[in-house]
Amino acid sequence: MEVVNKAPAKINLSLDALFQHHDGQHEWKMVMTSVDLADYVHITLRDDNKITVATDTGFLPEDKRNLAYQAAVVLQREYHVKQGATIAIEKHIPVAAGLGGGSTDAAAVLRGLNDLWQLNLSLSQLAQLGLQVDSDVPYCVYSRPALVTGRGEKINILPTLPPFWVILAKPQVSISTPTILQQLDYEQVNDHPDTERLLRGISRHDFQEMIAGMGNVLAPITNTHCNDITRMCMQMRKFGAQIAQMSGSGPTVFGLCEKYSRAQHVFNSMKGFCREVYLVRPTLS
Ligand code: ATP
Repeated sequence: MEVVNKAPAKINLSLDALFQHHDGQHEWKMVMTSVDLADYVHITLRDDNKITVATDTGFLPEDKRNLAYQAAVVLQREYHVKQGATIAIEKHIPVAAGLGGGSTDAAAVLRGLNDLWQLNLSLSQLAQLGLQVDSDVPYCVYSRPALVTGRGEKINILPTLPPFWVILAKPQVSISTPTILQQLDYEQVNDHPDTERLLRGISRHDFQEMIAGMGNVLAPITNTHCNDITRMCMQMRKFGAQIAQMSGSGPTVFGLCEKYSRAQHVFNSMKGFCREVYLVRPTLS
């Protein structure tokens, strides 16, 4: 028996870091949603108790470094499961891009194995387990608009977002999240997103109010590694995006437009500058 789980990419409408815990982890305050650019995770049961992971990329690790593998092992260990699983990942989400590709694959494995191994765990239980793999996994278990706080484990599902379109553009470079987080100096952060305003915009279904509260505290750091970020955000704005900013720790930038025709214009214009551009719909609820 095989299950196929869709593993959507996420974007950060806002990303704020409040302080660093004694264990080195950060206290996050992020508003996230998912988009319809997705990997597909195929899982089949095995007779033995082995976990195997394969991807169609040729360059991603297929051993214990793969977050999908780690998720399966955590679930198997915590619930004393005697069965194994064969996992095959069809990758569409750019890697090390700030779109949560590894985390969403891990979350899809948790949801898929919960069904295949008949564990009957709630999404909340899967999310708590997912935190052992990566701080974005709890959000990805839900993959719906949410306010994410704590170390990534506190997920508050939000009301339906006002409608809009998303243009994603990934610069050529890939950037590792730990490299960016090592450089996060709280004394230097003076431009925090206005998360309360963003949330107010969402609850009032007011797109303008929503975008007025957006922002990403990691953007100035990532921009020191790849100054394409500021340039690409400016281009997106020039072509008509109503806001443009970086997702996660980057380097992918995204623009938002309420009208499809305007989003299509931004998408077509960005294609002249950037090889990897996508026009996608967000998950609104
Ligand atoms: P985030 O936004 O959560 O920081 P990201 O989108 O920047 O994540 P990923 O695509 O998750 O980055 O890749 C980060 C690292 O994770 C890469 O170096 C990659 O080798 C590793 N990795 C492990 N498993 C996977 C997977 N299933 N898919 C993608 N990357 C994976």
